[in-house]
Amino acid sequence: MPSPLFPAFLDLAGRRVLLVGGGVVARRKAEALLEAGASLLVGAPALEPVLSRWAAEGRFTHLDGRFVPEWLEGAWLVIAATDDAEVNAHVAAEATARHIWANVVDDAPRCSFQVPARIERGPLQVAISSRGEAPMVARWVRETLEATLDEGLGTLAEWLGARREALRTRFPETTRRRQIIERVLRGPAADALRRGDHIAAEAHFEAALNETPALIGTVALVGAGPGDPGLLTLRGLRVLNQADVILHDRLVSPEVLALARRDAERIEVAKEAGTHHTTQERIHALMIEHARAGKRVVRLKGGDPFVFGRGGEELEALRAEGIPFEVVPGITAALACGAYAGIPLTHRDHAQSLRLVTAHCRNSIDTLDWQALAQERQTLVVYMGVQGLDTLREKLIAHGRAPNTPFALIENGSRPEQRVVLGTLADLPERAAQERVRSPALLILGEVAGLAESLHWFGAAPLTSRPVSLAA
Ligand code: SAH
Repeated sequence: MPSPLFPAFLDLAGRRVLLVGGGVVARRKAEALLEAGASLLVGAPALEPVLSRWAAEGRFTHLDGRFVPEWLEGAWLVIAATDDAEVNAHVAAEATARHIWANVVDDAPRCSFQVPARIERGPLQVAISSRGEAPMVARWVRETLEATLDEGLGTLAEWLGARREALRTRFPETTRRRQIIERVLRGPAADALRRGDHIAAEAHFEAALNETPALIGTVALVGAGPGDPGLLTLRGLRVLNQADVILHDRLVSPEVLALARRDAERIEVAKEAGTHHTTQERIHALMIEHARAGKRVVRLKGGDPFVFGRGGEELEALRAEGIPFEVVPGITAALACGAYAGIPLTHRDHAQSLRLVTAHCRNSIDTLDWQALAQERQTLVVYMGVQGLDTLREKLIAHGRAPNTPFALIENGSRPEQRVVLGTLADLPERAAQERVRSPALLILGEVAGLAESLHWFGAAPLTSRPVSLAA
């Protein structure tokens, strides 16, 4: 077992670094070295176009020709990035003889230092190394961390950095200071900073310093998307990672819930179409109660919280109690079902506008503007509509929509069990009954719906009308 590498971050500003090689790989290295402020020499008989432009701009000194050991004079560091293994080996050997740190791209045994995969958030840098043995794994870890580490961390690091002296003076004792910083990092100050509310951040910071514990938690209203966990946003994932309590709808897929912090308390609060397990008031009370207990609450909803999701009502309830909140949008069913069924919701040839409606109760059916909904060359998306399909057909045809307008009913959109049922407005309720379409299902009505037949790409092929119903 070789010894582990010693990690270090080098200050290259103004220090001489030699890069041997003039191709694309060398260009990537040159870019990183220049960013670090190195005083760069690039040695190669020819430079690729971008390097050659940078040389002309005087960003580095070009040493024209094949490698000679004299190039190493005065260098702190050398990187060999030519495509000639012999030249690279020569560079490494000469450097090592002079006690100059050397890296040969993709040749770990010849390296005296490795360049890690890294993640940057402002002044914060995370470096990942596999000792050059499995760079692919290091890269994979980098991608995973990249997704979970919030962009706001950079701002937070700078903000806390600016308050470091004040913290030191006030809490000279390290353990105590650490506790306070921990509280700030996990507390509402960091959240406020992320929301761009510097005044609140300052107030929470002061409260943390005065050791008045943060009494109130926060609520994030998060859109979980339609089911496929890949459709959750990065921000949604990050918030889920930090949640203490998750209040989620039945519609939220288990795969999305599985992404949340393991020890978070999960409470299922609602209600698929029709069944109301928990009343809206009870949801409000639960959010408020947990936030009051200082918890980070995630209210996780199917699709997007502001599209037929009662997100507005929930925020009003939080607002009334003075509980801070944020909203993370999600991919709403219309967008997801359109995408996963191969139905572009707008199309230059077929539809110039899009309407999202819900028709799940008498009240919503009576108040809809049917004249407008029946217009041609527009796409109508109906949420929660599996029940009133005959009324829908009757109203739309009565207001002028052509009976042969295509529709698609998408059941379990974006999930492995997705089904797409196609037909025309004339036979809509019959087709739905025939194929036993169940909730959650979404109706897309309009000229574009027919495109699913040729553009479908996900899951089972769409179920098209049987010849007998074409008579309609
Ligand atoms: N806020 C959600 C909608 C909630 S209303 C959103 O933005 O998507 C619930 C209705 O959404 C369901 O009755 C159904 O019509 C639709 N829906 C939600 N997820 C769906 C899915 N995966 N497939 C099909 N329809 C879905």
